[in-house]
Amino acid sequence: MTPISCTSENMEYITGITASGGSWTPVFVVKSNINDCGCCGKCFKICGRGVFEYIDHPNADDLCGAKVMTVAHPDNCIGCGACARGCPKKNIVCEPCPK
Ligand code: SF4
Ligand code: SF4
Repeated sequence: MTPISCTSENMEYITGITASGGSWTPVFVVKSNINDCGCCGKCFKICGRGVFEYIDHPNADDLCGAKVMTVAHPDNCIGCGACARGCPKKNIVCEPCPK
């Protein structure tokens, strides 16, 4: 078996197949920054995999009980990238996953 190089140029990523049999590279959710979250709920509505959940902001007492969105179940992500595209605050990072 040929070893996989870990340099970014030679990195091999998990790939998927489109309906027509073409190849595509999924981008899986990596993180969202609760301090930059506008709490609009778009990512929660967009994601069909139940990855996001509201949590109390760590400083909720100072913010009158504010909520923020968190990546609660990253293992459910299928790598569609829709949450990152839909977040108006550009607050969600999705990346391809090395093999
Ligand atoms: S990439 Fe797709 S499946 Fe993954 S968390 Fe975002 S919307 Fe959900
Ligand atoms: S779409 Fe962005 S700003 Fe809106 S709740 Fe999700 S992470 Fe926060």
